[in-house]
Amino acid sequence: MSPDQLTFDNPVERHAHIKPQAQHQEPPGLDRDLEPKPDRGEETYRGTGRLQGRKALITGGDSGIGSAVAIAFAREGADVVLNYLESEREDAERVGGLIEHEGGKAILIAGDIRQREFCRELVAKAVDALGGLDILVNNAGHQVYQEDFAEFDEEHLDRTLKTNLYAMFWITKDALPHMGPGSTIINTSSVQAYKPSPILIDYATTKFGINGFTKGLAMQLAPQGIRVNAVAPGPVWTVLQVTEGQPPEKVESFGENTALGRMGQPVEMAPAYVFLASPESSYVVGETINVNGGLPVP
Ligand code: NAD
Ligand code: MG
Repeated sequence: MSPDQLTFDNPVERHAHIKPQAQHQEPPGLDRDLEPKPDRGEETYRGTGRLQGRKALITGGDSGIGSAVAIAFAREGADVVLNYLESEREDAERVGGLIEHEGGKAILIAGDIRQREFCRELVAKAVDALGGLDILVNNAGHQVYQEDFAEFDEEHLDRTLKTNLYAMFWITKDALPHMGPGSTIINTSSVQAYKPSPILIDYATTKFGINGFTKGLAMQLAPQGIRVNAVAPGPVWTVLQVTEGQPPEKVESFGENTALGRMGQPVEMAPAYVFLASPESSYVVGETINVNGGLPVP
């Protein structure tokens, strides 16, 4: 057989090598205004019933990676609750509307996970709406670059740590009493957990923390039949990148440093979450799956 006949789909060319123009939105921003549009799998993700009857809570499910995970989970047969910030309602409604249009169930719950009380409320409402909970995806995240460490202010540090770390602790703690054997928790880490960028020190700190949290909690919960794992995306085209996630002039060449030579699309992250959520991954515990286009990490 010739190499041509063996080629089904070339990962280098599977998604366009886009060169987005510099653009800016205030955090958390909207997928609605991102140019070019990210691919969240709307047209392409094919479900095969791998999460039939499952009940999932996904933070940051309105846009980017979280929205691709929501679409994929719904097409695999899960009911989903999406959490997001009130200003992102339009994005959330678009994703929820798509899922409902396809016959799935998507419940939208807006609110700020930096608030302890809201996290309790979110889990309680999600459990109520879904009739239980057996998948938790801690995916919401905050990333704003800071060139000079000396200029870090308390508010900046507080927002990053509360969103990325505290909320993960709180929501997980509140969710666990509702989760039984076979349940899964999936946290969103980052390549920054291995290769910290000098202008993302606070963010990288949280992503190192997420990997540690994942491994430690996984050891504690595995005997109860609850698996905890993480996905560590590389450079992915999402609104996070244009809401001061990095300097605007860097956006154009984002992802060119990967072995594939392009940035990833949110839809390319979803299969890792589906795998970790489904019973097929029953022997995968405390693992971080890197989905980064080829950026060697430990
Ligand atoms: P995104 O902006 O689309 O998603 C992040 C979401 O976090 C937002 O939609 C928002 O709803 C949520 N969020 C932020 N602050 C919140 C708060 N206080 N309360 C409630 N929700 C809040 O961007 P994304 O890139 O899809 O990010 C998803 C996850 O992926 C994040 O954890 C991010 O760190 C991680 N990640 C992204 C990349 C990338 O290149 N895009 C790479 C590695 C990791
Ligand atoms: Mg969003």
